[in-house]
Amino acid sequence: MAFVVAIDGPSGTGKGTITKLIAKEMGLLNIDTGAMYRSLALKCLKLGINTLEEKERIIETAKNINIEIQHNEENQEIFLDGENVTKDIRTKEISAFSSLVSSIPEVRETMVNMQRKMAQNKDIIMEGRDITTVVFPNADVKIYLDASLEERAKRRYKENKEKGIQGTFEETLKAMEKRDYDDTHREVAPLRIAEGAVVIDTTKLTIEEVNKKVKEIINEKYENNSK
Ligand code: C5P
Repeated sequence: MAFVVAIDGPSGTGKGTITKLIAKEMGLLNIDTGAMYRSLALKCLKLGINTLEEKERIIETAKNINIEIQHNEENQEIFLDGENVTKDIRTKEISAFSSLVSSIPEVRETMVNMQRKMAQNKDIIMEGRDITTVVFPNADVKIYLDASLEERAKRRYKENKEKGIQGTFEETLKAMEKRDYDDTHREVAPLRIAEGAVVIDTTKLTIEEVNKKVKEIINEKYENNSK
């Protein structure tokens, strides 16, 4: 039986970093579902679709998209219709538009099916906004990572600066606040804490401390499962 670790939470909580580390250390396949919504947003923008008024075209685009996640030693790389878009999907425009396209129920249905297929018969760690609630509500381990808005905006601002992405701290905070609002208020699969999920507040924790806590939770479950 495959082992499933599901992690949800808003952006800037360290989900991506933690998931990558744990996948490597514990030999789990890492599936970044945010990257999938981001790839769809990128494809739409390339096709000149930049508003939810073109909902039908977005749904069609989602149905025909080809997203591949390739794993190498250090990183995972995202391929959209055969093209490496790992870096292109990390812009502010894509962050904002991915949150919009992800509010369309038909888009979510297509993505969730794709995610379940990718995970079939594998030991995985998957992160996103609806993994513990919709994609794998019966996951072996369910974790909700959280942190204050201020701290998450600080982390994202620092990250943006390192990547050379322009913008003030205030703008970063406002964009994050808007995305939080959209992700928690959409009608289908809003971000929320799933029943049975362990909540970890990372506001005052280092990546190492979060990593240790998550590993403890996974190990405990793994040992119980093998009893
Ligand atoms: O996690 P990341 O910031 O890369 O996700 C980008 C956007 O994709 C989120 O703001 C959210 O709107 C959407 N998303 C989602 N469900 C997921 C993963 C991401 O709706 N499972």
